[in-house]
Amino acid sequence: MAEGLTVEARGLTKRFGTREVLSGLDLEISPGEFVALLGRSGSGKSTLLRVLAGLDSEVDGEFSVHGTVSVAFQQPRLLPWRKVWRNVVLGLRGRGADRGLAERALAEMRLRDHADAWPRTLSGGEAQRLSLARALVREPDLLLLDEPFGALDALTRLAMHALVADLWAQHQPSVLLVTHDVDEALLLADRVLILDGGAIVAEHVLTHARPRRLADHLDVRARVLADLGVTDHAIA
Ligand code: ADP
Ligand code: MG
Repeated sequence: MAEGLTVEARGLTKRFGTREVLSGLDLEISPGEFVALLGRSGSGKSTLLRVLAGLDSEVDGEFSVHGTVSVAFQQPRLLPWRKVWRNVVLGLRGRGADRGLAERALAEMRLRDHADAWPRTLSGGEAQRLSLARALVREPDLLLLDEPFGALDALTRLAMHALVADLWAQHQPSVLLVTHDVDEALLLADRVLILDGGAIVAEHVLTHARPRRLADHLDVRARVLADLGVTDHAIA
């Protein structure tokens, strides 16, 4: 495996029974790189994330992940009987799973005032930010995000995009963001990948400076949509 990559996968192949979901997939992610992964429903995006997160080891091919990994899922997985701050440091051992650490992460996600609240009292956007705070408190080298904003309303999602862009700029983890939102990918990522038929079938590199405006990316947007099988006709 090459030096210096956060993620390197070669020929990743994953089967469920006789169904091959990943078919010899290759993937490289550099330190600090923000990669967005698009693909139709059922194309294997979550499967790939689970493999990279070490949550599914029954896989063929080779891959290496350099450093620590945190995952945030579409539905925040919170323990309802633990206060917000305890959810942040849940499962952290030996690194001072203390309140101060939780409060710093909560402050970054603009949730400091909710430290002593119960998870069920949070709005959808707040619960999602809590989920990100929990991922961040681990200071991951690789942040795996599986449609983390999919369940949020449009305005909250825009606010989350700005927050994630800030956090990424500040902490510089490598990010692999699974999303079905093409505009989200164009606003946030250095590179957009399309997963289809079990492999990465297209790649678009985005070079515009941040903060991004969608108007800068209309050409790439059309190409990404075409890769996803959406024609001009369908979006007109
Ligand atoms: P995506 O996240 O792109 O929507 P998934 O990775 O969740 O897709 O699923 C890819 C395919 O693998 C789907 O056909 C799904 O039904 C199948 N699959 C996912 N997990 C399992 C599992 N644990 N057992 C059997 N099939 C699975
Ligand atoms: Mg999925």
